[in-house]
Amino acid sequence: MKPLKTLIVGALGQLGRALQADFPDADVVDLVEGAKDGVLDVSDPAQVAEFAWHDYQLVLNAAAYTAVDKAETTEGRRAAWAANAAAPATLARVATEHRLTLVHYSTDYVFDGTAELHTEDERYSPLGVYGQTKAAGDIAVATTPRHYIVRTSWVIGEGRNFVRTMQQLAADGISPTVVDDQVGRLTFTADLSRATRHLLDQGAPYGIYNVQGSGPRTSWAQLAKEVFRLSGRDPGEVTPVTTQQYVEGREGISPRPANGVLDLSKIQATGFTPADHLEQLRDYCESDRP
Ligand code: NDP
Repeated sequence: MKPLKTLIVGALGQLGRALQADFPDADVVDLVEGAKDGVLDVSDPAQVAEFAWHDYQLVLNAAAYTAVDKAETTEGRRAAWAANAAAPATLARVATEHRLTLVHYSTDYVFDGTAELHTEDERYSPLGVYGQTKAAGDIAVATTPRHYIVRTSWVIGEGRNFVRTMQQLAADGISPTVVDDQVGRLTFTADLSRATRHLLDQGAPYGIYNVQGSGPRTSWAQLAKEVFRLSGRDPGEVTPVTTQQYVEGREGISPRPANGVLDLSKIQATGFTPADHLEQLRDYCESDRP
C-alpha cells in the first residue's frame, strides 16, 4: 500500500508558499495554474468530487478569499462565501468521509474587536462580509473530528501585503495616511507554517489555536512608520488618522475590528514560542525589498 500523502490547497498564496517549504513532500494545488500538482478550485463541488482524496491523510487548507473590501461588493460577496465558507464545509465533509486531518486558517476578523485580548473560545461577532464568511468556515471545519483551526492575523509573507505596500509607497516617495486606531500584531507566514508543523508533530489535541507574532501591540500607522524608517524614509511622512477620518470620502471600505490582539497562551502551552513580530518585520524589510 502506498503511504498516504499531504495536500496543500491554495498553495500559491502567501501562506501556501511558506507551507510548501515546511512540508516539502506535500502535493500542492491552487485555484489557478502554476502549482506543481495542478488546479483545484475547492469551491467547485464537481472538482472536489473528482479529486483523489483517498491518497491523502492530511489537508492543509491555505485557500481563501482575502480581499476584505472587495468582499463587500456584489461579486466579491459571492466569491468570499464560496471560498471561505462553502469550500471549508466541503473539505470538512471530505475529511470526515476519508478520516483525514484538516488544518484550516482563521482570522481575528471573526470578532468585532471589542475584547482586549481574543481567546480561542470567544464567541463569533464578525463586522464585515470577510469575517462573516470566515466565521462560517470555522464553524463548518469544527464539525470534522480531526481538525486544527489556526487563528491568525495581519499575515505577511511572499506576495501582496501591508508591509510590501508601505515599502512601495516609501520607495515611490509617497506620504500616506494610515489608520492609528486599529491595533494588533503581524504574523509572518514562516512562523505560521512552523506552528502548523509543531501542532501536527506534537499530536496536539484537535481544536482552535491562536497563532500570531509576539511582542508589543501596534497600530497600522505605527507599523507603517517602522517600515518607512527601515526603508530610509522619515517616519514623520506617515500621517496617522482615525478609521473614521480614513473612510471619509472613500467608498466600499469594510468595517474592521479595532483590536486584533490574540491570546497566545494556548499555543505557548504546547511548547511553541511565536517570534516577536517587530523583529521579524526588521528581518523581512532588510532581506527583501520590493
Ligand atoms: P492569499 O490571498 O495570499 O492566498 C490565498 C490563496 O488561495 C490564493 O492563491 C488564492 O488564489 C487561493 N484560492 C482562493 N480561492 C480558492 C479556491 N476556491 N480554491 C482554491 N484556491 C483558492 O491568502 P493568505 O495566504 O494571506 O491567507 C492564508 C489564510 O490566512 C487564509 O485562510 C486567510 O483567511 C487567513 N488570514 C489571512 C490574513 C491576511 O492578512 N492575509 C489575516 C488573517 C487570516 P487566487 O490568488 O488566484 O485567488
